[in-house]
Amino acid sequence: MDRIRAARRATQIGFILVVALLPVFDILRFDVAAKQLYLFGGVWELGLKQGFYLDESAGGAAHVAIRFFLKAILPWVAVLGIFPLMGFLFGRLFCGWLCPEGAFFEYADHLTEKVLGRKSLFGKTPKEDRPPIWQRLKYGGLAVASVALIPPIAALFLMGYFIAPETAWNRALSLQFTPAMKVGFVGVYAYMFTTFVLVRHTFCKYVCAAGLMQTMFGWISPLSLRIHFNRAGFSRCNDCKRCEKVCFMNVKPRASLRDINCVNCGECISACRYELGGEGLFSYCFGAEKDQRDKKAAHCGDLAPRYHSGK
Ligand code: SF4
Ligand code: SF4
Repeated sequence: MDRIRAARRATQIGFILVVALLPVFDILRFDVAAKQLYLFGGVWELGLKQGFYLDESAGGAAHVAIRFFLKAILPWVAVLGIFPLMGFLFGRLFCGWLCPEGAFFEYADHLTEKVLGRKSLFGKTPKEDRPPIWQRLKYGGLAVASVALIPPIAALFLMGYFIAPETAWNRALSLQFTPAMKVGFVGVYAYMFTTFVLVRHTFCKYVCAAGLMQTMFGWISPLSLRIHFNRAGFSRCNDCKRCEKVCFMNVKPRASLRDINCVNCGECISACRYELGGEGLFSYCFGAEKDQRDKKAAHCGDLAPRYHSGK
């Protein structure tokens, strides 16, 4: 496996584990039954009532106000600021390297490609690209097993954010589901089936709020991480279109205009390196400076006009 993809799979799997295990270790969960928020191993309390009871003076009120700011407002500001800040610095890197949903969408694309010879459920595959029957059966079986098993397991881990994980697992293993758990299973199943099987990366482009925040702040940022196409080396491009075919966000990475949907996954970097044997035409860079320098120095070969005219 290519180095960038291997690193990306490691970060994606690592982040899925983090999301699954946060409630297990009480790092983040809200216990609906106890009406308590657990944060970093302990119960997160504002302690405002105690503050008033202990000291009703102006000093006491100030103490309560500071406590409220530090324990209620500041954490929310920090949480809400994560995605804009990440977008400003790294563009949509979170989507391409960490997001569990993005990882599952890619897995769904992979299985569909193995079964149908194309990434999407919709459309037609040319006869010559149709996979052999043994491959269709093997990956078809894996797809059915994935659809049957992944949503309930994911639902069980996600329930841990609201029900004590031990209780949720014990109830699931003894098949004693509470009405809330049943609703949780059905809801997560319906959501995952719709997004993973039918919608996939269209969700990332048009629906996801985290993606939107990264897109907006990455777009206005003069220094965010982006994919750089070596326009000066365009004459080396053989127009194989590998870079476009691997892009699950349907970005055309050679186009002169930057596409806001790019998630900095680096698949186009690897694809071009593979095609041109070692040094490809794409790389990561921060900010637009390199792009501008390159545009000035650009000397596009024969293929540039052919590409831009779309032939
Ligand atoms: S353009 Fe390249 S880095 Fe951006 S999403 Fe497509 S394959 Fe990934
Ligand atoms: S993968 Fe590289 S050589 Fe192939 S079309 Fe893209 S830029 Fe050109």
